Amino acid sequence: MHPLKRCRESLVISDSVVWAAQAPILGGTQGLLLRTDHSALAQAVRRQSLRRSVRGVPGTGQHPERCGCGSLRIRVEIAGEPKAGVYSECRKCGR
Ligand SMILES: [Zn+2]
Repeated sequence: MHPLKRCRESLVISDSVVWAAQAPILGGTQGLLLRTDHSALAQAVRRQSLRRSVRGVPGTGQHPERCGCGSLRIRVEIAGEPKAGVYSECRKCGR
């Protein structure tokens, strides 16, 4: 047994292709991209990654909010206390 480390991931699914990175893919500093062409995997990831709108935080298919600094805000889901919930935050200025 070893402790699990939290993994941030950004996904783009296009037809049967899944693109994944550990930073926002559309942010310009996504780093290494993983491309997988597999229809069943793409369908499963698409189903698993659908998100509802929560307290004004946009869900799947909705436009992201724009921060006062001009950057797009990123959806953040925190499962553990003390800050459990769904938020949107700006990675550029932290608001
Ligand atoms: Zn900002």
